[in-house]
Amino acid sequence: MADSSTAPGNAAPPAPRILRIAVPTPLRRLFDYRPAGQPPVGGWRPGLRVKIPFGRRYLVGIVMECAMQSELPASQLKPITERLDDEPLPADWLWLCQFTARYYQHSLGDTLHHALPGPLRQGRPLEARIRERWQLNHPETAALDVLSRAPRQRELVQLLAQHRHGMITSAITAQGYGRAQLQGLLDKSLVTRVSEPLTASEGWSGALLAEPALPLNREQATALSALHEGLDRFHPCLLHGVTGSGKTEVYLQLIEAVLGQGRQALVLVPEIGLTPQTLSRFRKRFRAPVVALHSGLTDLERLDAWEAARSGRAPIIIGTRSAIFTPLARPGVIIVDEEHDGSFKQQDGLRYHARDLAMARAHREGVPILLGSATPSLESLAQARGGRYRHLRLTQRPSRHAPAKLELVDLRGRPRQGGLIPPVIDAIRQALKAEGQVLVFINRRGFSPSLACHQCGWIAECRHCDSRMTLHRQPPRLVCHHCEHQTPQPDACPSCGSADLRPLGAGTERSEETLATLFPDTPVYRIDRDSTRRKEAFDQLLTEIRRGEPSLLVGTQMLAKGHHLPHVTLVVVVNADAGLYASDFRALEQSAQLLVQVAGRSGRADRAGRVLVQTLHPDDPNLRLLADSGYDALAYQMLEERRLAGLPPYRYLALARFEATREEDARQAAEAAGDAARQWLGERQSAVHCLGPVPAPMERRQNRYHVQLMLSAEKRSALHEASAWLVGWMESAASRRVRWSLDIDPMTLS
Ligand code: ADP
Ligand code: ZN
Ligand code: ZN
Repeated sequence: MADSSTAPGNAAPPAPRILRIAVPTPLRRLFDYRPAGQPPVGGWRPGLRVKIPFGRRYLVGIVMECAMQSELPASQLKPITERLDDEPLPADWLWLCQFTARYYQHSLGDTLHHALPGPLRQGRPLEARIRERWQLNHPETAALDVLSRAPRQRELVQLLAQHRHGMITSAITAQGYGRAQLQGLLDKSLVTRVSEPLTASEGWSGALLAEPALPLNREQATALSALHEGLDRFHPCLLHGVTGSGKTEVYLQLIEAVLGQGRQALVLVPEIGLTPQTLSRFRKRFRAPVVALHSGLTDLERLDAWEAARSGRAPIIIGTRSAIFTPLARPGVIIVDEEHDGSFKQQDGLRYHARDLAMARAHREGVPILLGSATPSLESLAQARGGRYRHLRLTQRPSRHAPAKLELVDLRGRPRQGGLIPPVIDAIRQALKAEGQVLVFINRRGFSPSLACHQCGWIAECRHCDSRMTLHRQPPRLVCHHCEHQTPQPDACPSCGSADLRPLGAGTERSEETLATLFPDTPVYRIDRDSTRRKEAFDQLLTEIRRGEPSLLVGTQMLAKGHHLPHVTLVVVVNADAGLYASDFRALEQSAQLLVQVAGRSGRADRAGRVLVQTLHPDDPNLRLLADSGYDALAYQMLEERRLAGLPPYRYLALARFEATREEDARQAAEAAGDAARQWLGERQSAVHCLGPVPAPMERRQNRYHVQLMLSAEKRSALHEASAWLVGWMESAASRRVRWSLDIDPMTLS
């Protein structure tokens, strides 16, 4: 800004006449206001929250620039309503939000809004530092039988009865209880909720470790000493270690060193990975407080966690994707566990990738960053191979058994029961006989992926999407997994009236049913989104499974990733083929990662494991390479293919998506954008390719039509420039009937 007021010399800057404010709207610009009221002690600065009149509402915005002049005449400038902060939000945090907005071509106001905890968005003061304590109203309630039909609430009452002064929410949730139970007790007036301020002495001091670190094996020790070399600078490392090789132990000892320097550690884990066991591993090791940021927190708890990180009170912060926006007073390291996991990318609104932001942030803050995975993303692998990340390998498991090899099992021409063929069923029987647990992995919930008429070939399809309806039996209905549309299960074919309707293929419910019939004396646990809608249900199932009785676990990827299931000796993959021939360029990478992660559940403790992978394509060269030579071999081959095809990580992509209720509206908008972009690019079309428009792989979803346009460039800067231009063009040209978005570094092209 030419007229920005940075005063020369050391004189205090004059009071600005204009505040440029980021406002939570999709518009990619700042808004000018006049300051009003008392200026803060340090003067007006970027990072102060203010309340402003905006249209007919009042919004909370953040001052981004202080200036002397506006392009608007003074008469049109409104004063702010109220200044909310004395101290600005942290500068590094503002930088990260600005970087995010710029990189993902998103509105800054919206980005800041996204990155703030709810109460701060709503204008609450920064220092909330309040927590909730739950107290039983009458200790003798424990004996009451009003709760006979709510066993979990009853257990919670018994737990609370042991704590005369009540328990704080996080202590209760750490025991596996949720909001639902607390609310239930509150509704029955059995407990009282007390909000109390946190005291300043809440911090921690004294001995760091609560339990001794494990003696490292040679590879772990090599990795750790490499990490020790880069503690005081930006030092990007990839910890590439087979499943169960002790990556977490390396994280713990790295964090120990960082905390020893009085600094903080931020640990990002996938959505599925922030389990009570993960947390308890960190909490058991360190005497220092470990703050967890997850979706189960109340707004106040989230604010307090944020504040604990910002003030430095919390030395260790563990969270999912959005935790990347947690400010740190003394940043010391960022760790991204399972860095390949798709849940680090937000798939709507602000489409950021937390791993990539973590890299930018570590660079800016001058701290080491450790990406860990058994199956690194091709992006990270390419960086490591190019020498830009330090490549640390763990090839051995501390336990006696190496990860099991994948054994491919030919499905062709074999009769199936619940998706399983006779030799696999025999292998399951043997594993159970040897007192093991068996994990049957099937990435489809429901009973069957579709319902078909054997007379006329009719197949149940969603009325609103280009997709089939999944048959569910518990309760019986047809469900579209893309739009959640439901219909009752028909008794007769809607097309020809025949009663010969049959399920096609198997989902988790069907495998569960088959296994329960085949093995009537063995418990079968089904773990998918349907069976674990309540969080406690999932924790209860896991507790049951960890007791180690021989049992059958049927589950989707919910079960296949991250969980330590020490008693599993056999893993069965019902069908490995979905990702092999999918059109999406990342499908193979993702399904290879998933297969290896699933396989890694087998034989993690003292017994060797087996992994049987059913497939219709036992000769598929990719699958063979994965089975015979492992993930790394396949990954390096995929990298070569990506290079030849001009795909990430060798080129950078941005995907513009257009959607409308009328097909031609979406198509015309995409065509207009494509034409405009090609014209603007002119001769630069050798540097930035503009491809499409093409219909999305599933063109109709929820009655809306989806069309896409892609930009592809070898240089990030060129992609960036073209993306910024395209966003500006779409903002000004798009019709109200069309919704559009731009996805930088898209994870899928659907
Ligand atoms: P990863 O994170 O690589 O999947 P974990 O850190 O969960 O692996 O380690 C797998 C198992 O090995 C855990 O039970 C862990 O306690 C154990 N382990 C890790 N490092 C060592 C070591 N140096 N000595 C003995 N056991 C170890
Ligand atoms: Zn029919
Ligand atoms: Zn649908």
